[in-house]
Amino acid sequence: MNIKKRRCRHCGRLFIVCNKVKKHDYCKREKCQLARKRMWQKEKMESDQTYHEDQKSSQQDWSDNNPDYWKQYRQKNKRYTDANREKQRYRNARRGKKAQESPPHEPIAKMDALSKQNAVISGKYRLVPLEPELIAKMDAIIVEIKTISPGYTNFGP
Ligand SMILES: [Zn+2]
Repeated sequence: MNIKKRRCRHCGRLFIVCNKVKKHDYCKREKCQLARKRMWQKEKMESDQTYHEDQKSSQQDWSDNNPDYWKQYRQKNKRYTDANREKQRYRNARRGKKAQESPPHEPIAKMDALSKQNAVISGKYRLVPLEPELIAKMDAIIVEIKTISPGYTNFGP
């Protein structure tokens, strides 16, 4: 068996050439494979006019859409939170009608005296970051919070 070695065109390390791989000029390290892809793309751009045009136009499309990307995202996000707030107001109003004795600003879940003191009620919460940059980067996360009252010693493992 004839083992052929070659220097990687990116990192310069010797690697074993595999005959099955066409133009095996790069070793298998991730960095070098990325470099190989970039080089392939560069050569392709230079040699293939259609490919070049495609790449250019898709980049153009992207930058056409991109300048307002985060702006639009924030606006969308704001509309979403506004809509939710509106829905909740509506639900609260309906609850107020159903139970006439309930005050109109009754919170979503009924609080007993204890959880009023704790200020946290078991249930699902939407976790929304306060920083505007984070709001743009991540979607709201739904978390479930369970409060364990001191009386329930057998709760959980
Ligand atoms: Zn390499």
